[in-house]
Amino acid sequence: MRKKIVAGNWKMNTDKLKGSLLTHTVMEETNPGNFEVIFFPPFPFLSDIALISCQKQGFSLGAQNISEFDNGAFTGEVSAEMIASIPCKYVLVGHSERRMYFNENADVLNKKLLKAYQHGLIPLFCCGEPISERENDNYLDFVSIQIKESLFDLTADQLKNTVIAYEPIWAIGTGKTANPSQAQEMHALIRNVLEEKFDQNLVESIPILYGGSVNSSNASELFSQPDVDGGLVGGASLKAEEFIKIIASMETVLRNK
Ligand code: PEP
Repeated sequence: MRKKIVAGNWKMNTDKLKGSLLTHTVMEETNPGNFEVIFFPPFPFLSDIALISCQKQGFSLGAQNISEFDNGAFTGEVSAEMIASIPCKYVLVGHSERRMYFNENADVLNKKLLKAYQHGLIPLFCCGEPISERENDNYLDFVSIQIKESLFDLTADQLKNTVIAYEPIWAIGTGKTANPSQAQEMHALIRNVLEEKFDQNLVESIPILYGGSVNSSNASELFSQPDVDGGLVGGASLKAEEFIKIIASMETVLRNK
């Protein structure tokens, strides 16, 4: 069975104390035996959350970003090597907010992916279409292109160490979730596109998460789809009670499989 994951992207929210408390509470109340829960806190709290998250099996840490450069005069940037030294296991690459607000194009994303692999980080690669592409019925082609331009040049080994998240931009932070069949359609498409280039068994082993207004009411149905291997959760991961319920949804889905 593919690895199942529930990940919380805190974005630029919370503070050191509240973030630590949130992590403690979530870890006390949940037991992800056969899946993984990943916290993606802001950079300044990574070391604190690392010390907490390493204390129980099933919990991991990720960074929200890395630089495309190795080191040097890049004020404000954080390198993959620094992140790996905390240690972090994962890093987000290609989140739509980075593509939109920080002009991260395919060229930049490819450099970041390579830095992640070089330092032993697992990239959680995000893709997803804006509402205009969905309304024009071009959403499948749009995401296919994102997958091809960022992942087709990887080696099989690199792809093996990759997690994908499908996050339709119109669903991020809007309260409008893709319905389970819309998520399933895109996740299956992503697998089909990858199979044009990579071995079917390899592609079958890659976790594809859904992201976009996941909450405790919609998580179960989304996680039950055959090609949905979990969720990348933004807003709801900042509320301990909500995130705990989302993690519990994954437990229930896996128990009933
Ligand atoms: C995200 O930040 O990746 C995300 C999906 O946010 P939200 O759950 O708030 O829509």
